[in-house]
Amino acid sequence: MAASRTLTRETILAVAIVATATVATVLLRDTLAPTNLAMIYLGGVVAVAMRCSRRISVISSFLSVAAFDFFCVPPYLTFAVSDYQYVLTFAGMLIVALVISTQTVRLREHAAHAAAAQARTEALYRLSSRLAGETRVFEAARAATALAEEVFGARAVMFLPEDGRLSFRRRTSDVLPVPPSEESIAQWVFDNGHKAGLRTGTFPDATALYLPLRGARETFGVLAVLPDVALNVEGRIFAPEQQHLLEVFAGQTALAIERTMSQRAAEETRFHMQTEQMRSSLLSAVSHDLRTPLASITGAASTLRSQGGRLPPETRDELLESISDEADRLSRLVGNLLDMTRLESGGVELRRDFYPLEEIVGTALQRMESQLEGRTVITELAENLPMVFVDDVLLGQVLWNLLENIVKYTPSGTPIELAAFEKDGAVILEVRDRGPGVPAGEEERIFEKFYRGQSGNVSDNVRGAGLGLPICRAIIEAHRGTIQALPRDGGGSIFLIRLPLESRK
Ligand code: ADP
Repeated sequence: MAASRTLTRETILAVAIVATATVATVLLRDTLAPTNLAMIYLGGVVAVAMRCSRRISVISSFLSVAAFDFFCVPPYLTFAVSDYQYVLTFAGMLIVALVISTQTVRLREHAAHAAAAQARTEALYRLSSRLAGETRVFEAARAATALAEEVFGARAVMFLPEDGRLSFRRRTSDVLPVPPSEESIAQWVFDNGHKAGLRTGTFPDATALYLPLRGARETFGVLAVLPDVALNVEGRIFAPEQQHLLEVFAGQTALAIERTMSQRAAEETRFHMQTEQMRSSLLSAVSHDLRTPLASITGAASTLRSQGGRLPPETRDELLESISDEADRLSRLVGNLLDMTRLESGGVELRRDFYPLEEIVGTALQRMESQLEGRTVITELAENLPMVFVDDVLLGQVLWNLLENIVKYTPSGTPIELAAFEKDGAVILEVRDRGPGVPAGEEERIFEKFYRGQSGNVSDNVRGAGLGLPICRAIIEAHRGTIQALPRDGGGSIFLIRLPLESRK
């Protein structure tokens, strides 16, 4: 119906243009030479070709030549010609008119094609960029549906499966714009992977057109589109190129959903693997680090029990001391494990306040005093250092862990330096030693949980579970800071902490 209406409109327009050209030529035929009058008709042919179909343009070319003969070539008002040279003029005019009309129409069609292709590319580009950031299937489906409504000027809704079957309950819109009875049509589309519904060969009487969201491996859902009666009387979505675009649209959405799902699966696998790896590291760390001190404690305790009375007092003291040392070690390990778990699960609430850094450094050095015996500790805290907004206990723990590592991994007697200064809106705190340094390539790994560096494995006396530095990092990151290990000129390592200066919230 729409097509015949367009045809009538075009015919009227073409006739009107040729008639106008005729009126103009009749008025001018006494002043202009016939060849110039022909130009007026050619102008009319161009005008027709710019607005009408190819068929109408060709017919107007013939009509123009006929009108030219009838009105402009003497004798007037007859097709007879006085001079047979005019036949050549007619032929030339007809050829030029036909060439002009067909070329103009072709040009117009090209332009229309290019515009449609651009609109399609733009729609698909917008779809892919809108879907690129979606990490959840349902959100991706919702975004694609909203865009489909905008691009196609239609109402759209996506249905997703539930337990392997398509369900009208899992849909992207709040209201259901199609009758519930059409769930079976959507199911058919889901099962067969072909479109169906309105104006297709399958279920043509349905209220909506149903398209499968077919990915590379499976169908993820169904897109239903209904011509919006209020907006769209012509049924724009049923034009062939729009149908094609709709299908590509559905396919792209399916691929985006597929990508989202495989990303999630990959993440789950990675998480699972990480958990597995952590579990085995934890087991080996715990079995080694718990068993060794436990064996010493049990050994010493049973010796004391069986031969306590017979042992010289010094040996008894030694055994008691080793029990106490090992119990300390155990409690530290268990404490570290607990800290780590609490930090990781976000179970630690920072009790932040403004503190002078000297106070925190001083407390940490005091706590380490006995272990730092025989070491030179140099502190270089810049004057006028601003107060830091931190949890003092946790930052103290970081320093304690770093100092303990220096005691463990650097030869006794080597110096320790603690320096602090302000730089680029942050306070930098450096803990430096003159030990063997962190081996190149391990600077980042030593911050991984349960990772023990080569320096950690040199001797069995140096115990640890590879948790000290990860705890430091977790604490510093909770303060929105950073911590890294750097090689030090002249040997040794630098542990650099950067704490951004924050104003009181
Ligand atoms: P642990 O001390 O229990 O092994 P950490 O996480 O505290 O665990 O340290 C990880 C690794 O980093 C250690 O095993 C050690 O190899 C290395 N490391 C830490 N501090 C130093 C340091 N000051 N000098 C050289 N190596 C260090």
